[in-house]
Amino acid sequence: MTSLVHLSEVHKAYDKTTVLKGINLSIKKGDLVVLLGPSGSGKTTLLNLIAGIDKANSGQIQILGAEISEMNDLELTDYRKDTVGYIFQFYNLLPNLTVLENAALGLELKGESLDYAKVILEKVGLEDKAQRFPAQLSGGEQQRVAIARAMAKSPALIVADEPTGNLDKNNSIAVRELFKSIANDSTIIIATHDSDYLDIADKAYELNEGILETIK
Ligand code: ADP
Ligand code: MG
Repeated sequence: MTSLVHLSEVHKAYDKTTVLKGINLSIKKGDLVVLLGPSGSGKTTLLNLIAGIDKANSGQIQILGAEISEMNDLELTDYRKDTVGYIFQFYNLLPNLTVLENAALGLELKGESLDYAKVILEKVGLEDKAQRFPAQLSGGEQQRVAIARAMAKSPALIVADEPTGNLDKNNSIAVRELFKSIANDSTIIIATHDSDYLDIADKAYELNEGILETIK
């Protein structure tokens, strides 16, 4: 089996707090992986290691066969910019850019890229709101823009950290449905404490006491 993401014996501690105690994980291209665990269990830490935002103390993290710990600063920058699309709990849209401009952010703002961003906005159902600003959208719509922004750069991997943690029930359902609909084209890791995500998961794991347990 060729895996897109492969972690082997990954350890991570902050000062005296050991958060990850030997994580082994393989993710196949095209899988939607759900990472459950209570608050403080290390979900964000694990996503950040995979996304090249934080560094492990030991162990291997390979994406597309490249070992993250061996990348220099320039390679890491390119990795974060090109390979990973990151979706945050609080959307992190730029308030002074339109929906379309936000969606196109991952691309360099060229004419043809804007056209592609329009196609992606259609996929997330927001083509009619392309000229609005984030403050003129609901939370769920803002998160759909953030998902469009992540998708627009066609990253090898999309990671989402508590993507519906700030949304009400109906908006959460809409965002979850959106993840389900894009899952075939993308490899996605979603960290959440919401077990409703198990329904859309190809694989699911629970993080507890620094150890990963397979639950689906
Ligand atoms: P989760 O996302 O599952 O809520 P986190 O990965 O955010 O968990 O945090 C796991 C543990 O690591 C927590 O005890 C948290 O306080 C600690 N932690 C996270 N980031 C840092 C940091 N930058 N410095 C020190 N401790 C941290
Ligand atoms: Mg977290």
